[in-house]
Amino acid sequence: MQDKAIALQDVDLSLGRGAARVHILKGISLDIGQGEAVGLVGPSGSGKSTLLMTMAGLEQPDSGKILVDGTDLAALDEDALARFRGRRIGIVFQSFHLIPTMTALENVALPLELAGEADAFARAEAELEAVGLGHRFHHYPAQLSGGEQQRVAIARAIVSNPAILVADEPTGNLDEATGQAIIELLFALKRGRGATLVLVTHDLNLARLCDRTVRLRSGRIDTDAVVTA
Ligand code: ADP
Ligand code: MG
Repeated sequence: MQDKAIALQDVDLSLGRGAARVHILKGISLDIGQGEAVGLVGPSGSGKSTLLMTMAGLEQPDSGKILVDGTDLAALDEDALARFRGRRIGIVFQSFHLIPTMTALENVALPLELAGEADAFARAEAELEAVGLGHRFHHYPAQLSGGEQQRVAIARAIVSNPAILVADEPTGNLDEATGQAIIELLFALKRGRGATLVLVTHDLNLARLCDRTVRLRSGRIDTDAVVTA
């Protein structure tokens, strides 16, 4: 029995080589409950993106432990980790990471196809419609605006109904109305399916809707506070 979606225990992480090596995360310990929405805030360069990628198993810590749904990520080999991530974690990258040679629809359908699901394209179409891109199925990423690419990335991250969604500034490139629609979509995942959300954001509207705000400063947790209405 455990009710933690994500637990980090004294995580340290450095990136880069030689003189360019940077000690980014310094002794991070953090528990995130299942179904909790956590806003990750802090100044640029404080380590928010790196922390998000570390939780998602895309960066390996130098020391410390990361447990996702009770599974120690260090105990999984590369293939097992990729499968684990594919099944449980939706990731929205700050720079989207869409596949340039695939259309919006193909990008969104890809995780379902990789999981061998039969109705991949129908579900991808529905998800693109939900993010307001029903008219952009057959466009390639380079033919889309930044905000549209961001919405494709969000559709791809949520199409498989992940139990955990980590998103790096998911409303960062959007106008207010579109941002609001995306916020509703993310929180519908939490309400409807009890998904856990970890959202890096500078958007106060978004941060206010979270259960908790964790503020990073120079790679350490500066404050960890419950959001009061
Ligand atoms: P944030 O998302 O809060 O702006 P990041 O996690 O992107 O911060 O980066 C934290 C710090 O780590 C920054 O100073 C950045 O320059 C540095 N950094 C990030 N990635 C690398 C890398 N691959 N190699 C070296 N330094 C990096
Ligand atoms: Mg960042």
